[in-house]
Amino acid sequence: TDRVVVVGGGMAGAQAALGLRQGGWRGAVTLVGDEPHRPYDRPPLSKDVLLGKSDSTAFDIDWDHLGVELLPGRRAVGLRPGLLQLDGSIELPYDALVIATGAAPLALPGTEGAHLLRTLDDALALRALLTPGKRLVLVGAGWIGAETATVARQLGCEVTVVEAGPAPLPGALPAELGALMAAWYADAGIVLRCGAAVAGLEPGAVLLADGTRLDADEVVVGIGARPATGWLAGSGIDLDPSGAVLVDERLRTSLPGVWAAGDCTSYPSARSGTRLTVQHWDHALQSGSAVAASMLGSDAPYDPVPYFWSEQFGRMVQYAGRHTDADRLLWRGTPADADWTVLWLRSDVLVAALSVDRPRDLNQARRLIDRATRLDPGRAADPAVPLKAA
Ligand code: FAD
Repeated sequence: TDRVVVVGGGMAGAQAALGLRQGGWRGAVTLVGDEPHRPYDRPPLSKDVLLGKSDSTAFDIDWDHLGVELLPGRRAVGLRPGLLQLDGSIELPYDALVIATGAAPLALPGTEGAHLLRTLDDALALRALLTPGKRLVLVGAGWIGAETATVARQLGCEVTVVEAGPAPLPGALPAELGALMAAWYADAGIVLRCGAAVAGLEPGAVLLADGTRLDADEVVVGIGARPATGWLAGSGIDLDPSGAVLVDERLRTSLPGVWAAGDCTSYPSARSGTRLTVQHWDHALQSGSAVAASMLGSDAPYDPVPYFWSEQFGRMVQYAGRHTDADRLLWRGTPADADWTVLWLRSDVLVAALSVDRPRDLNQARRLIDRATRLDPGRAADPAVPLKAA
């Protein structure tokens, strides 16, 4: 029978394997992953796992029952048409292949020895070190930095966050919103140093470029992640300059019989008018399902409204859509409120929304963005009125 091999045991790979079975695929399915664990979920790692509320985030899927063969602890090292090469000189023939190797955290030169937070093992190792009174320096005030800082404070650590940009999340959000989030750090008793460059590590300290020495028992670097696709060099799979696998609107790569999903991909988004590399959970889930459907013959283009959430400083932060600096930012509520939403409009059409503790706004916005709905800005600005079309 035909054999599908899925490489990568994260959300995208797991959804692909599950989706093949749910879609009626009867051939062999093998799920290969380099981690020594059964396929598991990542978002809880910087939340409940780090906090000690959970030790395992394995997907609640009965792989034996589904007839999916798991090959954990095996790294893909090369690809030739019809043949996947694994470490240990193992060669795995395939009829169809899914690349779902996700992303690997970026290291910061000069900070060798610092912790990164991507895997279950990373989270368990870090958790063991975050005891009360420990001085933790976090490099990067991004999503991972904010969540890790939140948990470290709950665990009783002294936390300093060093950010190169002028405010948290400099790449993702306008400075006006970043400045609001900076107050969340202060309220949580965290020292946030923006506009600061890390020069290197010393025993027990982080050195900044301006000569400042920050005492540190532990250092965590959270400055982003890059597609984990180095193993595809020379395979004939086209990558973009960041290393993301270039797929078409049905998630097919440049090599016949090979698809890709999740954090490691760049897909053409007609609704966004550009290619997107999305490193968030919802994309891993949806593209994993979509890749299975595509392999089974569906010709539906993959192009959902991008969505993600982050739990930080006791708040639920959610974002849907995609905005640019040219779009009009409209407040729904005020920054003085405990919960608020901002909308981005392009010629009065809703293109993106960010909400803080207003999940209903976000759900409504997500649907309206999907339908490229025109809003009445006056009504949309009133948080008491449900979001709806003009
Ligand atoms: P991954 O989850 O990275 O899985 C890829 C798997 O492939 C990994 O197990 C990797 O080890 C394996 N692999 C890599 N190379 C090879 C190889 N050569 N051979 C074999 N296996 C290989 N998103 C949100 O929207 N909200 C959140 O709150 C949120 N929190 C997060 C918290 C943390 C700590 C992290 C790390 C991520 C978080 N994310 C969150 C992002 C989300 O988890 C990712 O977008 C999602 O995990 C991507 O799934 P994936 O399957 O594409 O890749």
